[in-house]
Amino acid sequence: MSLMKAPEGVPVWVDISRCKACDICVSLCPAGVLAMTPAPGAILGATIEVIEPDACIGCKDCELHCPDFAIYVAERSEYKFAKLTDEAKERAEAIRKNKFKKLSA
Ligand code: SF4
Ligand code: SF4
Repeated sequence: MSLMKAPEGVPVWVDISRCKACDICVSLCPAGVLAMTPAPGAILGATIEVIEPDACIGCKDCELHCPDFAIYVAERSEYKFAKLTDEAKERAEAIRKNKFKKLSA
């Protein structure tokens, strides 16, 4: 099975058709880049969303731990990733406390 083609200018992307909304990537992301969002048509009623792409530090923890090979991270040679900020760490913690769901605005 071939991997999804990398979109240009994006640090991290998801193949929604493979994602089973297990929360693993959200729980591991140190920068609060990912969150679960309601998706009425999805099996578990939710799917993953890249909510803060500009905060991605390119650590690849999401990609390396996804059991379904559903999330991919750009190569360092192709994308300039962010540095991990306190704001990003706090957002990640808030999302974890919110049961991995997207925070309301
Ligand atoms: S770890 Fe993979 S399957 Fe689980 S929510 Fe993230 S992208 Fe979806
Ligand atoms: S590469 Fe790291 S910072 Fe970027 S979404 Fe994945 S876990 Fe989060």
